[in-house]
Amino acid sequence: TIGAITLSEAGSMAAATSTSGLFMKKAGRVGDSPLSGSGFYVDSEIGGAAATGLGEDIMKGCISYEIVRRMGEGETPQEACDHAVYPFVKKLKKRYGKAGEFSLVAMDKDGDWGVATNVEFTFSVATSTEDPQILIAHPSANGTTM
Ligand code: ASP
Repeated sequence: TIGAITLSEAGSMAAATSTSGLFMKKAGRVGDSPLSGSGFYVDSEIGGAAATGLGEDIMKGCISYEIVRRMGEGETPQEACDHAVYPFVKKLKKRYGKAGEFSLVAMDKDGDWGVATNVEFTFSVATSTEDPQILIAHPSANGTTM
């Protein structure tokens, strides 16, 4: 899945996902990517988030919505990503004995961004004033490291 969050100069935000779904998926399967709240979510007054990874697990947490909700409560995008993703991974492992791999990106209405992953995740950040940066996120005991 490709997930993107954008912020216009006028302050309008958008989130988008594009996916081929999971490899060898059953015909008719609907993953998280087209579902608002799971694969993506955005509120121009707060920020947006987008997900990639095992849709069946991402959907159990409505995790993109949860990240935006947390930013709305005052968390930074990185705090919101860390606080939404890592406890959720623990919960999945406790309840189901395993958690699929997934990764999230988020950006708030000021253009600050965050990312969280339970695997390893390459993402890019682009602004109108800087060249795009390609970064790699890693999960760690204290949250996400780049
Ligand atoms: N999230 C997608 C799905 O579950 C798969 C992916 O991110 O590659 O359909």
